[in-house]
Amino acid sequence: MAKNVALIVAAGRGTRASRYEDEAPKQYVHLQGKPVLHHVIQRFLETEQIDHVLTVIHADDEQAYEQATSNIDSERLLAPVFGGATRQQSVYAGLAALESHQPQKVLIHDGARPFCSSDLISQVCNGLNQHTAILPALPVSDTLKRVEHNIVSQTLDRSNLWGAQTPQGFLFSDIWSAHKKAKESEKDDFTDDASIAEWFGLDVHVINAQTDNFKITTKDDFEKGERLLNKEVNMRIGNGFDVHEFEPGDEIILCGISIPFDKKLKGHSDADVGLHAITDAIYGALGEGDIGQHFPPSDPQWKGAASDVFLKHAVELVTKRGGKVANIDLTLICEAPKIGPHSLAMRQFIANTMSLEIDQVSVKATTSEGLGFTGRREGIAALASALLLL
Ligand code: MG
Repeated sequence: MAKNVALIVAAGRGTRASRYEDEAPKQYVHLQGKPVLHHVIQRFLETEQIDHVLTVIHADDEQAYEQATSNIDSERLLAPVFGGATRQQSVYAGLAALESHQPQKVLIHDGARPFCSSDLISQVCNGLNQHTAILPALPVSDTLKRVEHNIVSQTLDRSNLWGAQTPQGFLFSDIWSAHKKAKESEKDDFTDDASIAEWFGLDVHVINAQTDNFKITTKDDFEKGERLLNKEVNMRIGNGFDVHEFEPGDEIILCGISIPFDKKLKGHSDADVGLHAITDAIYGALGEGDIGQHFPPSDPQWKGAASDVFLKHAVELVTKRGGKVANIDLTLICEAPKIGPHSLAMRQFIANTMSLEIDQVSVKATTSEGLGFTGRREGIAALASALLLL
């Protein structure tokens, strides 16, 4: 049974923010290559406490909605419902559609606020454990003026004035009753749900909102949004190269996989040349030196060590900076053993070690056409690239 549901209101026709004439309503205009609404829905799906997401759309936007959500593959995203002529009517339609799901909590969010953090969503959700309604808001910092025909008629006292944001959180049964009563009473001028809750007599508890959780309203907001998203994704690239020579033995360890062979790789640790190259690529992308600095060969504790320890350490440094690895590409250079039969297992091992999906990891192999030390079968060389998002 569904418990916590996000209701995203995206039925507006507002085109003030469109960058070109005849462009789509602002929730479907692209921001970093994806519609605003796509970003909004993703933010809620990324938040664990949210069991389902329902979007209220305009009847004319069915196709635009399909496109905006085409690559979102989540059973938690419910089929959209059509809204009404006002925001209040659209929320009503959404709540009516949710009734059969019997949610405990509902978070109502503007479809044009794509920068709402998972943290704020969680705070609103958790706040409902103690309060009947949660409103994220920020104290107004600008001095407020009443203006008529471009002339100031009054300066308002801004103390105790707060700007309301969304998501606004409610116990479902409360806000649904409030909306039904507003409809019966023919009260139709509410601009947000907290004001309906107040009118209905619920205590609305305010929590600190988030400065960049702004509603996209003008063209300038899109530019501000692009800057914000650009700042969020800082790409870093690194490469790593390693060589280990063969010595007499009966197996080699390559990318965590044991391959029976008539030689072994010589080295202080398990000499896993593939993992060493990847580890160095990550250190390189971070500007954090190389494997020898973090794990000196002179230190006896690394003698014979399994090299996934080194790789895990490099990934930890990425995580500590709040980043993640986007992908890894590794090329192994040797005449023998044959890598092909083991490459899938190697990719899986690397993906597991780094907490990545297998399609983020590539392991390729080549010979050096009989030339050089790898051609003379004296050892194996490995070359890796890593892309980080910080
Ligand atoms: Mg090495």
